[in-house]
Amino acid sequence: MLLYNTSKRSKEEFVPGQPGKVKMYACGPTVYDYFHIGNARAFVTFDVLRRYFEYRGYEVDYVQNITDIDDKIIARSLEEKVPFQQIADKYAQAFLDDSAALGIKKPNHQPRATEVLTDIISAIQALVEKGFAYEVAGDVYFDTGALPEYGSLSGKKRDEQLPGARITENPKKRNPADFTLWKASKPGEPVWQSPWGEGRPGWHTECVVMGQKFLGDNFDIHGGGIDLVFPHHENELAQALALTGKPLANYWMHNGFLNIDGDKMSKSLDNFFTARDILEKHSAEAIRFFFLSKHYRSPIDFNPQIIEESERAVHNFHEALRSIAFGKISAEADGSFAEQEKAFIEAMDDDLNTARALAVLFELTRSVKNEQLPREKREQAALMLVKLGRVLGFFADLESKLSEQVPDLSRQLIELLLDYRKQARQNKDWALSDRIRDDLAALGVEIRDTPQGCEWKIK
Ligand SMILES: [Zn+2]
Repeated sequence: MLLYNTSKRSKEEFVPGQPGKVKMYACGPTVYDYFHIGNARAFVTFDVLRRYFEYRGYEVDYVQNITDIDDKIIARSLEEKVPFQQIADKYAQAFLDDSAALGIKKPNHQPRATEVLTDIISAIQALVEKGFAYEVAGDVYFDTGALPEYGSLSGKKRDEQLPGARITENPKKRNPADFTLWKASKPGEPVWQSPWGEGRPGWHTECVVMGQKFLGDNFDIHGGGIDLVFPHHENELAQALALTGKPLANYWMHNGFLNIDGDKMSKSLDNFFTARDILEKHSAEAIRFFFLSKHYRSPIDFNPQIIEESERAVHNFHEALRSIAFGKISAEADGSFAEQEKAFIEAMDDDLNTARALAVLFELTRSVKNEQLPREKREQAALMLVKLGRVLGFFADLESKLSEQVPDLSRQLIELLLDYRKQARQNKDWALSDRIRDDLAALGVEIRDTPQGCEWKIK
């Protein structure tokens, strides 16, 4: 299986640290608001990666953190005049609810930064002791000048490692690229006790500590949105190298940007959508389909038309399954459509080419609907469609969808009885023909013989 490794800037054969096991970490949300559709893309991407590994027989240990200490959460709590914990709890719960609504499988671990404060403080202490961090008036900074490998993940040279435009120059830093590990608290802010006084940890330290705590010093995959490569992931890697001498992860994977109708999504442009907004109008499957219709590293453009198209594509899958009353299928998989499964695996093995994988689902859908094929063949196509679709997170609620099919099933049963009645009449078995008519009438189905055949309606 080939995966694009950001740190190597190329696709590489995936070789797990331990055979048969995959240890992966993806950056979760900072819980100061509902997460937006761009975040949702990252969450779905790594959910699909995890599902695919599981389908290929790997045992996956997947960690996704919840950042519940951050400037943005504090700003929001001051703005709304409620304790910061209340903001964090509210949006952490919203994150869990909306992730579930998007059909995202629960990661094996979902630690919150506030749960690992002791580990964070120990890590910072170790960095200070090893000479990779320094304290200035209650703040602790990572000394990027002390780590020759700094910049290796993003490929940024020293003179490009300038803090983002939003960060003002801080005279306390030795180097503009130095980043905060521990921040002294200002009045009114939440505080934790530390060897450097009251304060709170920086985001970059939170993630590296949670990754190492649950997956070890060196794990297989670290993922997130492309905007996290620098400085967030670069800084995570720097701390890991300084602490253990080992790279935090062997493969760094990043999904591309999401634009809205060609523009960058922003609150000021009034084109900002939370996943919750979109879920009000569209099915989770359509949203997933939309994400997966493009390669995860390509930019993707969200607009009303494309999500409608996704909705229709997903509807087409379900329509096909309904057409052969999937759920009543008794067929055992018999190895038919192995070609399609192979094509699916080839697509996904090529750095998770979900667009090509979806084309395989279309092909199977056409076979399910193809009335020229024997029913058993169509059932086999349906079995394969569901099997592969589930790797991409579709068809999770097929069972509950079955209840919606009941009216459909009733219709089919009525047609079936009328077929038998027709047969009986051809055999001049009037007694049976009348009995079917009377029994249906007792159930509220009225039938009428016409020159064109038998018609029926519910009384
Ligand atoms: Zn992170």
